[in-house]
Amino acid sequence: MSISSATGWPAISVADAYARLTAAGSPFETALRPVRGQLLKTWAKGPQTMRDVLGRVREHGDRTFIVLEDERVSYGDFHKAVAQLAAAFVEMGVEPGDRVAVTMRNLPEWPVTVCAAIAIGAIATPLNAWWSREELVYGLKDSGAKVAIFDPERLERVAGDLAGLPDLDHVMVARGEGAAPLETLIGPVAGWASLPDADLPPIDALGAEMDPDSAATLFYTSGTTGKPKGAVGSHRAFTSNILTQQFVAARAFLRRGETMPARPANAPQRATLLAVPLFHVTGFSAILTPLMFNGDKLVLMRRFDAGQALALIERERISTAGGVPAIAWQLVDHPDREKYDLSSLERVAYGGAPCPPELSRRVREVWPHAAPSAGWGMTETCAVFANNTAEDYLAKPDSCGPPTPLGEWKVMRPDGTEAPTGEVGELWVRGCTVAIEYWNNPAATEETFGGGWLKTGDLARLDEEGFAYIVDRAKDMLIRGGENIYCIEVENLLAEHPAVDEAALIGLPHRTLGEEPGAIVRLREGGAADEAELRAFVASRLAGFKVPVRVFFAGEPLPRNANGKLIKAELRERFAQSEPA
Ligand code: AMP
Repeated sequence: MSISSATGWPAISVADAYARLTAAGSPFETALRPVRGQLLKTWAKGPQTMRDVLGRVREHGDRTFIVLEDERVSYGDFHKAVAQLAAAFVEMGVEPGDRVAVTMRNLPEWPVTVCAAIAIGAIATPLNAWWSREELVYGLKDSGAKVAIFDPERLERVAGDLAGLPDLDHVMVARGEGAAPLETLIGPVAGWASLPDADLPPIDALGAEMDPDSAATLFYTSGTTGKPKGAVGSHRAFTSNILTQQFVAARAFLRRGETMPARPANAPQRATLLAVPLFHVTGFSAILTPLMFNGDKLVLMRRFDAGQALALIERERISTAGGVPAIAWQLVDHPDREKYDLSSLERVAYGGAPCPPELSRRVREVWPHAAPSAGWGMTETCAVFANNTAEDYLAKPDSCGPPTPLGEWKVMRPDGTEAPTGEVGELWVRGCTVAIEYWNNPAATEETFGGGWLKTGDLARLDEEGFAYIVDRAKDMLIRGGENIYCIEVENLLAEHPAVDEAALIGLPHRTLGEEPGAIVRLREGGAADEAELRAFVASRLAGFKVPVRVFFAGEPLPRNANGKLIKAELRERFAQSEPA
């Protein structure tokens, strides 16, 4: 480990660093609390519910919160819009526990609608804006959303289907027509400054208690059954990320034998470039929630473009960039990178997909002043469960780090016994930030969360310091950029095509995106369909990122094991390296 011999790092073991940082009296003190029938570690201090976070948001007053092109929203004005919309939701009859679906691109209205819903005890239900019409309708129906708020593009996609959704009482649109305009309730973004500075509606008057472990969000994730499942996240899951992020920074200092310096009051405002969607937990939980508690600036992009991202880093003095590895790759690889002043970068952070070890080295080489950081998490862990950063990450670039002090993990053998250090098995995790359940799906909840441990479907090994190395996935899924594609969903759809007898989806390696979907199809006797037709068939029903970039045609039955399961390893070996036709 070259770092330790050159600089004397590490000054303290990971275990000792954890013990020191979480001791009684420390800002990171932990407390055991009963959470869903288990005694779990929680942060003893800090915000407990998202209403606490919104209280802090209001105090940030005139600081800039959100920047989107030439729109700039201050914290105070954002809070006014949230309070106004929360009151309007109450007027409309939204009650604690009701689902409020939000589906739009990254606009300032996204966090306003989501925070307003959560503030009154409703369950914010962000739907994937890249979803097709069918997928969006499924999400609205499955969640039983009472209110749905769209941007014009998403509204147009599902407008013809909304009348058939019996639970849906209110449909609104931001920045468009075709439904009740959101602007009639809160005005346009530029007018939020003139809204009254009101308190949030009182939560006790709504007849609900805001328990930190009550439901706040419903984030959809795909599943092995092929249909997306809603993972219900608690307030605590999201508020915990605030201290977790500070803890990870403090841990890096302590490992160097230093104490994290307090940030001077007159230090420049920190800023994050948001290059990933808010509708995944990475955007909402790992980035937005801590950022708004801390009073940092969030810079949105209408659409990710690496060149524009570099220009924004310079213009807005961005301190944190990244999101998923695919974004970080595009920034370090960009031919115009050296034309910009990127000296404001302090952290290049990513996760949510395999992080190639080479990426950490590239980030360090290109921006020696910025700490690379890799996180591991799932929708079901409500984002960051483990994180590797700074010297630890450079020393172990293939690890996603140890879990945060709130998380525990173990590696399990197929026979249900725990694997010893170093042996690969399925990673099981538990902690207070793990999702409460899958919405309306007790069978899937039992299968995945039963016994008090979340079975991640990731194959990993742990080292003697408790760092995890994700080596593979037991679940049949691939990740393109940051978007998960469950193979069965695409395979089932391809099999519905009249010319298709059987289909398999595999990951084709891609340097920056990690993987891209490739389909292997065997046509029926006499069936005729070409690559373009099958790709168009998938595109007509599923989100664009799920459409196979290649379709290979097999002349013989696809290889299956004795149980009839496709042998993907064999297919990958045969097709994943093929040159494009
Ligand atoms: P999602 O629910 O969309 O956030 O996807 C979660 C899955 O992404 C995990 O179960 C892993 O398979 C994968 N994943 C997340 N973070 C990492 C990481 N740091 N390294 C490898 N795989 C990861």
